[in-house]
Amino acid sequence: MKVAVVKETAPGERRVALVPEAVAKLRTAGFEVLVETGAGDGAWLSDDAFTEAGADIVARDEIAAAADVILMVGRPDEQAITGLRPGQAVLGMLAPLGDHAFAGRLAEAGVLAVSLDLIPRTLPRAQSMDALSSQANIAGYKAAVLAASEFGRFFPLLITAAGTARPAKVLILGTGVAGLQAIGTARRLGAVVSAYDVRPETRTEVESLGASFIELTSVGPASGEGGYARALTEEERQAQQDELAGHIGKQDVIITTAQVPGRRPPLLVTADALKGMTAGSVVIDMGASALGGNVEGSRPDETVVTENGVTVIGAGHLPSSMPAAASAMYARNISALLSYLVKDGSLAIDLTDDLQRGVVITYEGQVVHAALAEPAGGTARVDGASD
Ligand code: NAD
Repeated sequence: MKVAVVKETAPGERRVALVPEAVAKLRTAGFEVLVETGAGDGAWLSDDAFTEAGADIVARDEIAAAADVILMVGRPDEQAITGLRPGQAVLGMLAPLGDHAFAGRLAEAGVLAVSLDLIPRTLPRAQSMDALSSQANIAGYKAAVLAASEFGRFFPLLITAAGTARPAKVLILGTGVAGLQAIGTARRLGAVVSAYDVRPETRTEVESLGASFIELTSVGPASGEGGYARALTEEERQAQQDELAGHIGKQDVIITTAQVPGRRPPLLVTADALKGMTAGSVVIDMGASALGGNVEGSRPDETVVTENGVTVIGAGHLPSSMPAAASAMYARNISALLSYLVKDGSLAIDLTDDLQRGVVITYEGQVVHAALAEPAGGTARVDGASD
């Protein structure tokens, strides 16, 4: 079976789906591996390093023509979809939810599309494939380091002959995988850390990392399905923003990580709350996206300084800023999923398997994922049948 790695095309994307170590393991397992010229450049992985690990370096056209499976970090662009062959498989973080047109085009192309960002994360056998967690860990770490670097004072308590510096006060909003890693990293840098999440069950994890948990009196628990948060009602949202503003004004640094699956990120830090912060404070918005983020006025991949001197960094793509670590972890995730899908040298798709049903988007010309089912009369097949 020929497995290929393409060079990512999304602007600013520096990760690559396989690293040489993962190539060597796939070769040992009997796969042929093709790597597009320059695919690892952004992560400081040369074509020679891939060749030494047993890969063949090829042009993109050859991948389209020869590969059985194409591995990527993001999703294929329009041009790449046009070049796909029926029966070819594409594995990547395809972000298909809510994008019926994208799924429809993959189905029309006749490809098997598999999305790592839909891995059912509560299945123990899926943990090694959990790219959302591996990348969120990196993002949480980098957010804390970035905040420390942008902040014009120290994170730790420092007592020197030239005076004493008080430790920075850091607030983490959203304590899932990224938030917990941000807490741990900010604590290791010596900051005094507090954190808040609408899921009260995260309190013990927050406290075990040495941070204090903020409880809001105006908003009740909002745990949703599968360990995620549910969306808040308009009244809850307003109450949350108002009560959080009081806490935000006392902080030096805020890192926001809040997400609700399939929705735009909730707005937690309003423009008024930013006005209550002192000059020199730093806010990192990991939810920053074109649709808006957790912080009012943040812009994706841009730094904005408010009139009162607060630096707001739109940081929705932090894993790509640590491309070596992010690619190494992602390569393990995607290799584990590939190995899971292959039996006796070929892809063995079985949509009665709960893990496969979670990740397979299109198969044999149809959209088969339940979350992408078309309204009545559409072409989607959601019965989980494997033909
Ligand atoms: P996420 O990226 O979807 O969201 C990040 C955090 O934002 C979550 O903790 C969420 O509760 C919080 N949030 C959402 N709306 C909010 C609001 N209005 N105010 C404050 N906070 C808000 O979450 P994630 O990091 O992907 O993790 C989600 C869950 O999945 C966690 O419970 C995690 O432990 C669980 N998980 C389980 C496994 C496993 O069982 N193997 C693996 C990975 C993650």
